[in-house]
Amino acid sequence: MSTTEPAEGPDQGVAMARRPTTSQCLFCDGALSHVFCDLGMSPLCESFVQEGDLNKMEAFYPLVVYVCPKCWLVQFYKYAAPTEIFSEYAYFSSYSDSWVEHGGRYTEMIIDRLGLTSDSHVVELASNDGYLLQHFVKKGVPVLGIEPAANVAKAAEEKNVPTLVEFFGRKCATRLVEEGKAADLIIGNNVLAQVYDINDFVGGITILLKPGGVVTIEFPHLLRLMAENQFDTIYHEHFSYFSFLSATGIFKAHGLRLFDVEELPTHGGSLRIYACHDEDRAHPTTDRARGLLEREEAEGFRGLSRYGAFQEQVDATKRGLLDFLIQAKRQGKSVAGYGAPGKGNTLLNYCGIRTDFIEYTVDRNPYKHGRYLPGTHIPIFAPERIAQTKPDYVLILPWNLKDEIMKQNAFIRDWGGQFVVPIPEARVYP
Ligand SMILES: [Zn+2]
Repeated sequence: MSTTEPAEGPDQGVAMARRPTTSQCLFCDGALSHVFCDLGMSPLCESFVQEGDLNKMEAFYPLVVYVCPKCWLVQFYKYAAPTEIFSEYAYFSSYSDSWVEHGGRYTEMIIDRLGLTSDSHVVELASNDGYLLQHFVKKGVPVLGIEPAANVAKAAEEKNVPTLVEFFGRKCATRLVEEGKAADLIIGNNVLAQVYDINDFVGGITILLKPGGVVTIEFPHLLRLMAENQFDTIYHEHFSYFSFLSATGIFKAHGLRLFDVEELPTHGGSLRIYACHDEDRAHPTTDRARGLLEREEAEGFRGLSRYGAFQEQVDATKRGLLDFLIQAKRQGKSVAGYGAPGKGNTLLNYCGIRTDFIEYTVDRNPYKHGRYLPGTHIPIFAPERIAQTKPDYVLILPWNLKDEIMKQNAFIRDWGGQFVVPIPEARVYP
């Protein structure tokens, strides 16, 4: 069965929120009118507010995600220009120790699996601050990073990672091939969701990839997002949310075959897909890839009703977190946040949690210190603030890093402090 052909059409009486829209699917020409998840109005999650701007107006956009009934891509339509979002991106991957280690392990594995040498060429799309490519540089494998945010690209250059400040697409890929910079390995970690013109992006990969070359791309798995209530990973900067099924269809349309897949624990459950040129016989499709496709189909990812059930899960998670916070406040407890990630801003804005519940949050990234969370205006301090104020509860907003954060901040137990993780449901870790 073709992956672009719906097994269940849009008009089969599925009880699902509909919103009138003139928008079309980012990938195919399907009309977007079936709501997957409505999180109300929210500001752009990376637009941290400076002290002097606290009394100014702030732009809020609908945080509503749709599912395309033709290709099953879960997605937004465009509210804000990518240049507005990414020209000064505040996220530096190197601020997360576990993410840098993840990059180190991947490098060892892939150099070995593909037999990469000093004659190979590795290109990473959205290479951020060089947290990953630095490992290849140390192993003597030539690399090129492509990163649209100038401030993080500069940090990569300081790690000896050559970096182009540019958006990747067919034009960029064609030029690189002309310059003799086609790739044996193309890496894209947590970038696919942030691509607005997905056909230009994946089309660019096809152009840049050498015959026999391999692409690995990591993205949060929609199946896990839905199974574990990770609605806070939905934000305007993430245009698309992929199942293996929808990704397979998109890559296939661009002459690329997903021949293998790994399920990873990162970001609450991600996929690492392996792609090659469709005609590349050196990379036969694995049982793992076939098995995951079958599993998603068995779970109903080719039918609207599976997607339509998500909103109630989201609402229940919100009620549970508010229950906990209201109880804590009634008991006179103090609550601080940990982290200022994009997902925290979706969660706090959707749940209506401001300084009435959380006095402040902390973050390791000095860029955010002295600024305020968008929408909720919760102040952001350096992590030392926690030891100074000794809160009763520390709410971990980047719950995907909860083990690392609990270890680093185990000292809160000295004064009886407890950690709280909001997703998949509010849970206290004594
Ligand atoms: Zn579509």
